[in-house]
Amino acid sequence: KQSSNYKPLTESDAITLAKRLNLFENDSQLTCYEIGDGNLNLVFKVTNTENGESIIIKQALPYAKVVGESWPLTLDRSRIETNALIKQAEFVPQYVPKVYYSDESLAITIMEDLSHLQIARAALMNDEDLPLLSNHIGEFLAKTLFYTSDYGLNQHYKKELVKQFINPDLCKITEDLVFTDPFFDHETNDFEQELQKDVERIWNDQVLKLEVAKLKQIFLTKAEALVHGDLHTGSIFADEKETKVIDPEFAYFGPIGFDVGQVFANLLLNAISREPKKQNILFTHIETTWTVFVEEFTKAWKNDAIEVFSQVDGYLEYVLSEIFEEAVGFAGCEIIRRTIGLAHVADLDKIEPANKRISIKQLALKLGSELVKNRKSVTNPKDFKEYTIQTA
Ligand code: ADP
Ligand code: MG
Ligand code: MG
Ligand code: MG
Repeated sequence: KQSSNYKPLTESDAITLAKRLNLFENDSQLTCYEIGDGNLNLVFKVTNTENGESIIIKQALPYAKVVGESWPLTLDRSRIETNALIKQAEFVPQYVPKVYYSDESLAITIMEDLSHLQIARAALMNDEDLPLLSNHIGEFLAKTLFYTSDYGLNQHYKKELVKQFINPDLCKITEDLVFTDPFFDHETNDFEQELQKDVERIWNDQVLKLEVAKLKQIFLTKAEALVHGDLHTGSIFADEKETKVIDPEFAYFGPIGFDVGQVFANLLLNAISREPKKQNILFTHIETTWTVFVEEFTKAWKNDAIEVFSQVDGYLEYVLSEIFEEAVGFAGCEIIRRTIGLAHVADLDKIEPANKRISIKQLALKLGSELVKNRKSVTNPKDFKEYTIQTA
């Protein structure tokens, strides 16, 4: 259902809108550029040329471009993104862009401009230090997930919140592109011919496919917390001091391990793209993400867990070990789909020369499969390094 006053904005429409909303001082000279890089949304940066102040207007488009085709995709994801940013800001305002305005019928979110930061994927590929990245992400995960879960929220209020984040279209994208298509000979897959044998090994691995089906079922049914749903390193802006998580249009009530696993996977994908002696910093980021997550989640639990859980000895430890196991499995799925599925990562695709790229992608496929199948025996974040070395 598309609202009647919806239309995709032009750059000059974006300026008119910013003026009408009084987002800048009267009579400011404004410029606007569309800076988005996706196939799903427009991202406008509007700047006051006199003092450099700027804002971002993100607008959802009513279709997605996938394998040359265009298919309808609900504008409701813009409402979800706005509401997720506002909800996350209740717990970690320091890690999300401020929302200035939103309009459901136009499918827009107007927010803080973060152009002074870099997309973490690009910074990591450029070998730049993001020393606080994993500390900040560990805390972001712990607080946003604990305080939107039944562990930290009254069950009645939590169900009211679940209603606001029913997101079937975007969940379907993940169900297909992360948990289904890469494991079958599906037309959305995209990989170099040199990988054909390795990909067929995946398609024929019945043990792997059974474990992926179990993980997909967890993604479909485990309404544990309000997850971000697309927490790869391209959804994180950072520099040496600050970290901001953007783009929660996939947010829904899902398993906590899904967000944690996507972070693990995208750090691992960057690690394996590097020469061995430059990998350690990424393995350390993975360990720190989990260590800080556990510290902050435990702190929140001790202070704020609802009684029915906090009174039961061993329950926190049980929850944390389930989250970790699921995160390892989800990380494996993410690594595989980023290697052979529809949406790739630059960390792998930019590797040159081609023979090196192919052998690292072969490693990624083996590593992803091992993580999915052995997730019960991977119990410590230090194991990621061991698995990577053993698989190589
Ligand atoms: P999509 O959902 O289409 O992936 P994103 O929210 O990830 O959209 O934004 C796409 C790109 O637009 C980002 O990679 C970044 O370059 C730019 N962008 C998005 N939000 C902001 C922001 N708040 N400040 C600065 N740039 C932004
Ligand atoms: Mg920048
Ligand atoms: Mg994005
Ligand atoms: Mg997005």
